[in-house]
Amino acid sequence: MEATLDLVSCAGCGRQVARNMLVFDSGARLVCPSCEADQEIAAVGKRSFWQLVVGPPALAIIGSLGLCLPILNLFVPALLGLGAVIAGIAAFRTALRGNTLEGVTESNKVFLILAGVVGGLWGLGLIGMNALAWLGLALTDRTHTLL
Ligand SMILES: [Zn+2]
Repeated sequence: MEATLDLVSCAGCGRQVARNMLVFDSGARLVCPSCEADQEIAAVGKRSFWQLVVGPPALAIIGSLGLCLPILNLFVPALLGLGAVIAGIAAFRTALRGNTLEGVTESNKVFLILAGVVGGLWGLGLIGMNALAWLGLALTDRTHTLL
């Protein structure tokens, strides 16, 4: 059994992995699937660093503008607010993982944290405002039926 299993050490983590499990990474090194996945995540992280920073506040701003639109203001702010919260959490988690992600450094991860906090709180605010609007509508409807 062991003789037929051709074990090769991964160029990324050094684990002994069966040769047929290994794949070539972008640097033409033989790496195990989990190292390959890590590299892909890192590549995506680098590309989306500024998306992660800009995303949460941008969604919150668009959501806030949505408050001015008739009919759309009933759900657009809450939806975009939710998007801002989710994007904010993603930015925050990326910051917490810190230097393990390519493109994130000690000096620029403060942007991710800021984006996460601002986008998250703003998003929650939008959801809250929308919830109050719905509550207001519900109360208005009740008043109408009572009168
Ligand atoms: Zn590996």
